Amino acid sequence: MANRIRTPQQLANTFPRLAGGPDLTSVVAKYPMAITPYYASLMRRADSSDPIFQMCVPRVQELTDPPFLMADPLEECHDMPVPGMVHRYPDRALVIATTMCSTYCRHCTRKRIAGTRETSITKRRLEQIANYLTEHPQISDVIVSGGDPLTMSTEHVEMVLSRLRQVPSVQIIRIGTRVPVVLPMRITDELCQMLRKYHPIWINTHFNHPQELTPESIAACNRLSDAGVPLGNQSVLLRGVNDSPQIIEKLCRALVRNRIRPYYLYQCDLVRGVEHFRTPVSRGMEIMEYLRGRLSGLAIPTFVVDAPHGGGKIPVLPTYVVSQSPTHTVLRNYEGMLIAYPEPQQRFDGACRTPQEDSAPGVWELTAGQYSRIQPEKTIRHSRRRPCCASDESVGDF
Ligand code: SF4
Repeated sequence: MANRIRTPQQLANTFPRLAGGPDLTSVVAKYPMAITPYYASLMRRADSSDPIFQMCVPRVQELTDPPFLMADPLEECHDMPVPGMVHRYPDRALVIATTMCSTYCRHCTRKRIAGTRETSITKRRLEQIANYLTEHPQISDVIVSGGDPLTMSTEHVEMVLSRLRQVPSVQIIRIGTRVPVVLPMRITDELCQMLRKYHPIWINTHFNHPQELTPESIAACNRLSDAGVPLGNQSVLLRGVNDSPQIIEKLCRALVRNRIRPYYLYQCDLVRGVEHFRTPVSRGMEIMEYLRGRLSGLAIPTFVVDAPHGGGKIPVLPTYVVSQSPTHTVLRNYEGMLIAYPEPQQRFDGACRTPQEDSAPGVWELTAGQYSRIQPEKTIRHSRRRPCCASDESVGDF
């Protein structure tokens, strides 16, 4: 951490070929740079043909944004009932434990906070968060994120975990960290010993390219797995870095071989400063089409668009249902084979469906027959409508 590359001058000193290139001062002033010496050592070429270079070296393109990009596209700030904690889904909450990372990824979705001030959670703020969690026992799964929480001292990480564990309704704690990828020597035996005390702890890490799976990063992941921490991986689809079916296949195979479950493959968020990384959604679907059949289900991540305006993660898949009738569903497999799946002869009466009481109706409630429609507010047609006969507003409408 002490030897991170932080300024354009240090960058040029490390990679003399970059001297005389574009002036990065204004980019770094807006979106901080930090590259660990370890991560810098993974570059094979000091130019944009190298995936590691692309992910950590600032580029002037970061300053040219189309108008639809946003500082906070997921609208996390709107879902923060207490500062530093996002509560979006009914049973989950995300704690922003620090704004610091060992390496600032150029594609980061929290570019608005990552590294702008390197601070970590205080006891006072943690207390506010723990009180909120106590008052909302439906939250059973807490994600400790940032920034990168494992850049904090082991004592500081322990302060967070031990306080969260004191909330009786918190069952699972997840840590989101890129430290195994960019600073694997941070995964010390001492850290693993501490984590063991707070199980069940899950860790999601962030490998994007097979070049990041080195003997050091694999050893770091092994230390975590051996400490009983299940590992998942969240990749982001990045133009010129990993937007190739073969690269993602190689990455997923290597992850599973090293006990890391490929969890999500993200479409790049609509965040300012990342336009040069974005790929069409169709590219992700093409990659998913390629993976199915070649890899076991265990090695296939879910491709998701984390929807703007706080819509949450939406899985996007190629279409495997070709057609449906009351008697048969026609499916296709990865080879293009068409298969008819006969439906049960007895009519399904929906007996096993139980109503959900703690959330607003969604598509599931429509399929369960609890609601007949979900009506968007404020459409022109809707405001024009007159109340009509009773049958027009059927019971159960939302
Ligand atoms: S480690 Fe995570 S939070 Fe930090 S810059 Fe990279 S993507 Fe962003």
